[in-house]
Amino acid sequence: MSDWLKGSVKKVVIIPHVNPDGDAIGASIGLNDIFINAGFDSCVIVPNDFPGYLNWLDNHHHPLVYENNTKLCQNILAKTDALFFLDFNDLKRLGKIEEYLHFMKKPIVLIDHHPDPKINAEYIFSDTDVSSTAELVYDFVEALGMLEHIGRVGSNALLTGIIADTGSFSHNASRHSTYRIVGELINKGADKERINDSLFNNFSEKRMRLLGYCLSEKMEIFPQYRSAVIWLTANELKKYDFQPGDTEGFVNYPLSIKGIVFSAFFMEKNGIVKVSFRSKGNFATNEFSGEHFHGGGHRNASGGETKLSIKEALELFRSLLPKYALQLETD
Ligand code: 5GP
Ligand code: MN
Repeated sequence: MSDWLKGSVKKVVIIPHVNPDGDAIGASIGLNDIFINAGFDSCVIVPNDFPGYLNWLDNHHHPLVYENNTKLCQNILAKTDALFFLDFNDLKRLGKIEEYLHFMKKPIVLIDHHPDPKINAEYIFSDTDVSSTAELVYDFVEALGMLEHIGRVGSNALLTGIIADTGSFSHNASRHSTYRIVGELINKGADKERINDSLFNNFSEKRMRLLGYCLSEKMEIFPQYRSAVIWLTANELKKYDFQPGDTEGFVNYPLSIKGIVFSAFFMEKNGIVKVSFRSKGNFATNEFSGEHFHGGGHRNASGGETKLSIKEALELFRSLLPKYALQLETD
């Protein structure tokens, strides 16, 4: 791997999953900056737009958005020596880029922490025990002996990924090595306060009011199944001037109610219903999502989508809970 990368690879393109979150963007911007510092011709192409609160991470090399700049992105993809896929392991999560890459034979390096990789990559760095893809990027860079190339941009970006995917160290964050890496990133200039502020204290007034509306009007609790669901229609999103990223984290709120172990969030988006699932304990939301909502992810955090109407999707969800009663009651 090291010989190949340092020998015959000059141009690289880093691609995170569609609807990229803090880890997908943090890991991608971090690796990109490290590659650029190491002399590679590197860039990040995201399938679609990402939340504006991540923009500050790199003011010089802003990721290109495939949906908005398709021709330019295709030219860059055609000339690249290697593709780095970050924070996903199923080609479906490339969004529209999949159609273009389909006929292209480029070496792929996969760095990811989701279960069951489904991509036939030349090199796979996959570990479901690791907190985030950003942490795996650090491991990868360390294994290649390239830590000296992590500067302020790289350290802020990687720490953003770790903090975003662990909910500020509240889940998937029980391994010693995570804290060793966090310490190293802080040594290299990462600003933990600014990262926390940008991720958690950076919302618009409308987003705050949308959250209030969800919690007071749109949350349905199923005490007998220790479950809850919140849902939003396209009209409601419009009313609150929805911006990408605004509903991130909404799905977590019901889990702070005593006794609730499974939470779902449904919203209408681009003519389909996008769903998110979270759980505490053993309930495997990724299996639930895979079986009923064409999705996947981690045991305690997963997502999916359906072409059902939001009303039908909610009815399906309600009808499924009794079938999972045993698992939900005993977890
Ligand atoms: P979120 O609920 O924040 O959108 O996603 C939570 C987790 O589920 C992430 O790890 C994400 O990668 C995964 N995920 C979200 N949506 C989908 C989807 O449509 N398909 C698959 N396979 N995974 C998803
Ligand atoms: Mn991740």
